[in-house]
Amino acid sequence: MTKQTKNPETIALHGGDYRSDPATTAVAVPIYRTTSYQFNNTGHAANLFALKEFGNIYTRIMNPTNDVLEKRVAALENGLACVTVGSGQAASTFAIVNVCQAGDNFVSSTDLYGGTVNLFTHTLKKLGIEVRYADPSDPKNFEKAIDEKTRCFYAETLPNPALRVFPIKEVSDIGRKHNIPLIMDNTAAPIICKPLDHGAAVVVHSLTKFIGGHGTVIGGCLVDGGNFDWTADPKRQPLFNEPDMSYGGAKWGEVVPQLTGANVSFAVRARVCLLRDLGAPLAPDNAWGIIQGLETAPLRMQQHCSNAAKAVDFLQKHKNVERVIYPTLHKGAIGDRTKKYFSGGNGALVGIEVKGGVEAGKKFIEALKMFYHVANIGDARSLAIHPATTTHSQLTPEELLAAGVTPGYVRLSIGIEHPDDIIADLKQALDASGKPSLKAVS
Ligand code: PLP
Repeated sequence: MTKQTKNPETIALHGGDYRSDPATTAVAVPIYRTTSYQFNNTGHAANLFALKEFGNIYTRIMNPTNDVLEKRVAALENGLACVTVGSGQAASTFAIVNVCQAGDNFVSSTDLYGGTVNLFTHTLKKLGIEVRYADPSDPKNFEKAIDEKTRCFYAETLPNPALRVFPIKEVSDIGRKHNIPLIMDNTAAPIICKPLDHGAAVVVHSLTKFIGGHGTVIGGCLVDGGNFDWTADPKRQPLFNEPDMSYGGAKWGEVVPQLTGANVSFAVRARVCLLRDLGAPLAPDNAWGIIQGLETAPLRMQQHCSNAAKAVDFLQKHKNVERVIYPTLHKGAIGDRTKKYFSGGNGALVGIEVKGGVEAGKKFIEALKMFYHVANIGDARSLAIHPATTTHSQLTPEELLAAGVTPGYVRLSIGIEHPDDIIADLKQALDASGKPSLKAVS
């Protein structure tokens, strides 16, 4: 049943080839808290290490609890394979390092999470990998930035704070013309958007957010769409076509389809080279925590999205709100992308410009009673933050503007509480933001 169904509510509970624990028949996915796995004999051990047979070796590289999570997320994204890692940041790092080496470059959207900008602009630069930024308002900007050393495109489906839905097909079509895969960070739009269906080759997630959903666990993953030919242009993708001397001269683009019968070279290389060498696995306890969230993620996404739509209606009418930022409120082609790429909702993230600039924005945040003031998104609870002085504070003024962070911008992540209570809290805090402070009165 689970192999055929495309319904996320069912996949989240039954996907992953897991019916019950083979040893105990336990229905809930057990935490396999082990580092190692006993080999049947020396031949079996040698075959596993030589990738002649697939099976458990060591928890830095694979674990049966993580395996269920990986299969369920792969199925939800319509992908072929998934590799979990210790955080969303590790997922973005692995995604780039799996295709780029020193001397290579990649083209990234300017609309990015601040932590990803730091990783791309500073840390990857120190490793000899160059990021070239392209403004996604015109997909052709991606093509203009390519040269013979460009290995991938990178973007977020629903980047905050601008909340402009990314032109997935437009950019992936450009990439495919040049044998360049598009890697999409789909953290802010799980279930409601499937980037692989629109031509992306790889999806990454911070599982910390909507999929974990309860603000309890940090985790990340990479999903291989199985839809990109890594061998079509060997010069374009050297890491998949040149012999890897750390693995007996394996050419990953060739050897993985031969061994597995599936086009999952990206996922296998990330697992057996990057998890092996760089570490950063997701602990099985954390995989279990994320599975608890995943099982209700489709239902929660519905409530997140419907509450956000109601909050947007309310915010647009409030006199102390200068501007509301939400995917459907963008005009023209950018607004139209929401209809093209999203179904079942338009996300939980809402931006507002509070009238009165930075000071009014701060007052608004401090007056919130139910919303939490935290640097997270995608918790079941409603959250708020002022990006310019927190999540994006390490960016230069130019980078801030390019990312759409104006001084008075407040980011809301709308939770799954009753919508009346969400609106009541927003209302009292907005009313307070417009009142003169005691200091100003005296
Ligand atoms: N990608 C996006 C879009 C994010 O919002 C975040 C974190 O806020 C990350 C990646 C990094 O995820 P993590 O905090 O799990 O490392």
